[in-house]
Amino acid sequence: VVKQRSRAQYQLYHKGMDKNTNELLSMETALRRSIGNNELKLHYQPQVDLHTNEIVSYEVLLRWENSHLGSVSPAKFVPIAEESGLIISIGEWVIEEACKQLMQWKKEGLGEIVLAINLSAKQFEQPYLVEKIKSLFSEYYINPNQIEFEITEGALQNVDEALHIMSRLKKIGVAISIDDFGTGYSSLMYLKQFPIDSLKIDQSFIREVLTDQKDEAIVKTILSIAENLGLLVVAEGIETLEQLNFLKTLNCQKGQGFYFSKPIPPVEITNRLKD
Ligand code: C2E
Ligand code: MG
Ligand code: MG
Ligand code: MG
Repeated sequence: VVKQRSRAQYQLYHKGMDKNTNELLSMETALRRSIGNNELKLHYQPQVDLHTNEIVSYEVLLRWENSHLGSVSPAKFVPIAEESGLIISIGEWVIEEACKQLMQWKKEGLGEIVLAINLSAKQFEQPYLVEKIKSLFSEYYINPNQIEFEITEGALQNVDEALHIMSRLKKIGVAISIDDFGTGYSSLMYLKQFPIDSLKIDQSFIREVLTDQKDEAIVKTILSIAENLGLLVVAEGIETLEQLNFLKTLNCQKGQGFYFSKPIPPVEITNRLKD
């Protein structure tokens, strides 16, 4: 009896695993076809100067809409894209699509809009990344001042390699920010070594910044380190006026979050700017 039950349990467990593995594999297969099938698009979320209340840039956020899977959150598919290596081609698609959009906005007389583009660690380490970016910039007449790349702390673990890539990126003239700051392998060493322009405080510290003393202390500390090192700070995930006002009193320069706007399709930005 014991043996039977354990076999049954084993089978259940095994089937559960299969289901998961199958789901991941079919998602990977679908993701592989997503570019060719036109299933990817970009949304843009305003980043606001907290003192003037003006939109100064937009973060580019990838969206995937598949006929069978529906709309899949990047939190779910980006890790799959990273593990399978698909993030290289998808990430290039993101940069090219963003460049096309910038050229389009320029053509429409909306000026040189600034975009923050997420780079995954795998993409960041890709040997051809810098050349690829250069050629896209020349193809779409992008002023490098229009682009900021967001990388997470995970991309900085191989210090020598990361320093090399980052200095090549800085030479092109783009800005670099550390995304989800405080959630990764945070190290003060890289704040000293790397040519970083800004830190994005992770939204998990902003969520309860008004009620959790530890979050408040962390946010204040990040702002003070940044000020002393001459780095700009962007607060992520601002959802309420109270959070905004508090961050203003701390002299946080920039912010983004649902309080200002959710990520929106480019046509909505065009319409808002033309109004
Ligand atoms: P992230 O780069 O930290 O982007 C910020 C995420 O927070 C976005 O989620 C955004 O929609 C969400 N967000 C913004 N304001 C608020 C707010 O006030 N409240 C809450 N609760 N959330 C807010 P999203 O679009 O689902 O993206 C999730 C993550 O997926 C991104 O985190 C980024 O790590 C990754 N991702 C998205 N697009 C790309 C991409 O093009 N390339 C790469 N490599 N990763 C991407
Ligand atoms: Mg980001
Ligand atoms: Mg973030
Ligand atoms: Mg994140």
